[in-house]
Amino acid sequence: MSGPVTSVDAGPVPAGDDPGECELEVTAGREAAVGAMTVNRVLPRRARRMVSSWCFVDQFGPTQVPEGGGMSVGPHPHIGLQTVTWLVHGAVLHRDSLGSEQEIRPGQLNLMTAGQGVSHSEEPVGGYSGDFQGVQLWVAQPEGTRHGAPAFEHLDQLPVAEVDGGELTVLVGRYLGAASPARADTEHLGVELRLGPGRTTLPLDPAHEYAAVALSGSVSVGPHHLTPGHLGYLGTGRDELPLDVAEPTRLLLLGGEPFPERILMWWNYVGRTQDEITAAHADWSAETERFGQVASTLDRIHTGPPPWATAR
Ligand code: MN
Repeated sequence: MSGPVTSVDAGPVPAGDDPGECELEVTAGREAAVGAMTVNRVLPRRARRMVSSWCFVDQFGPTQVPEGGGMSVGPHPHIGLQTVTWLVHGAVLHRDSLGSEQEIRPGQLNLMTAGQGVSHSEEPVGGYSGDFQGVQLWVAQPEGTRHGAPAFEHLDQLPVAEVDGGELTVLVGRYLGAASPARADTEHLGVELRLGPGRTTLPLDPAHEYAAVALSGSVSVGPHHLTPGHLGYLGTGRDELPLDVAEPTRLLLLGGEPFPERILMWWNYVGRTQDEITAAHADWSAETERFGQVASTLDRIHTGPPPWATAR
């Protein structure tokens, strides 16, 4: 998905939140337009820029789409991040500058690694109409891989495990003995939990930083209530998370080692300095080889230069 991440989401300065302990810090997302669709951006927020390597979370739906509706985002660039697409309902067609053309359905994972540069489009799947709901996340790449080659993988089989009161799917990372085959450049975790009413206690790693996002239903942690459209930040230092569930709930648990570097996000780019993002955007705007070509009938997405480049 195309951000764009603007200064509304994260100021044009390096992010550097201190991970710390808290019971559950609930932050409301904000509505943002992505193509013709309205999404709820729950990360980044000014108060919370990252959770481990996770630096962007857009929730979309639940909604109904007509045939040819749904996600329709023309070719746009990325650097320094992985896009993670996960659907609850519906279908999306992914095309990228590597030549990938891949339909994704619920329970499957699309994972695109941008490295030094990639472009992609997200399009309606012909013939599909009906329920549409899902989430797109970005993972910041570490210094060791962010200058590398782009890549794309589609995983239609992911490990499923049982927990008290429900079951889970491991999108990325390892949890309760189940390991996702998805590429992970850092020690991070993404799990979807499908829980029924009652108390569920999830084991956590005290050295890791966590947050939760409700995709549907709701959970409570102590007196704090988490519903869709919010980030439930959990911090570090916990060895378990007791969740009270009152209705059938689909919950995303995000976590991992706190990201060791300060990142700079603007539009669809994750970097470290203004100059490297300015250079990437100049390459995209000039349609150089760096971001390749996407075999899409949708128009390429362009935007003006970064705010720091015009303020000089
Ligand atoms: Mn995108």
